[in-house]
Amino acid sequence: MRDFSRDHRWLSINTATVRKQRGQDWPLLQILDACAARDIRAVSPWRDQVAAAGLQATARKLREHGLKLSGYCRGGMFTDDDATEQNLRALDEACELNAPCLVLVVGALPGALNGQAQHKDIASARAVVRDGIATLLERARERGMPLAIEPLHPMFAADRACINTLEQALDVCDELDPARSGALGVAVDVYHVWWDPKLYAMIERAGGRRILAFHVCDWLTPTTDLLNDRGMMGDGVIDIPRIRAAVEAQGYAGYSEVEIFSMHNWWQRDGGETLDTCIHRHQRCV
Ligand code: ZN
Repeated sequence: MRDFSRDHRWLSINTATVRKQRGQDWPLLQILDACAARDIRAVSPWRDQVAAAGLQATARKLREHGLKLSGYCRGGMFTDDDATEQNLRALDEACELNAPCLVLVVGALPGALNGQAQHKDIASARAVVRDGIATLLERARERGMPLAIEPLHPMFAADRACINTLEQALDVCDELDPARSGALGVAVDVYHVWWDPKLYAMIERAGGRRILAFHVCDWLTPTTDLLNDRGMMGDGVIDIPRIRAAVEAQGYAGYSEVEIFSMHNWWQRDGGETLDTCIHRHQRCV
């Protein structure tokens, strides 16, 4: 297991972690400047942040600072009406920014995210998702862009992702990419998978070829908001070093990406303070 305690060379910042500072949007290009000023080497930006900053301006800024991506957030939402169009654009952007993978939040019951689920058939949603991944995978292979399925905690099964465990994600990977070509894999986010009794068995099953991204934050007790109350590493109940050790034992040697959505705590602070805390906690608690 790599020693993270001396420096932060393997730290990546998911830019949603600092999408707001003191409650106001923090523009992406400024976030990238602040990361570079702290010798952070990698980031994972979100599409809406890139759209606001401009794709070319983002690419230029990344080049200027020598910043790498640890992933691009996100494609997926395969049960949405405009999924095909959105995913092809996400794929283009991921290629333009030299992302190592496009992260997929796969979607769930259509309409549920807006409070109006069109049906209750989660099995059919899963079938649509599987077919959507299969179709996108063909395009992604042509472009040389790996797809990383991110299983989300079951609390999101209705509205954001009906793939909720690593096992489900790996079943899809094995069906669509039996050769383990590297074109399809998973994003292991400790927030979503820490509770799973099969976690360690599934990390082993995934192996190094399938683990394309590793996301960290912490699970607070109590958690007051399903989406936007993620904790800073060390403030919650997830045994992050144990999960990282398991992932690295399979050969994962990529970035460890801090991804914290925190409406009432970290998004209310100065962005620089949040980044400094990420660096500090990454050395001590990851
Ligand atoms: Zn994640």
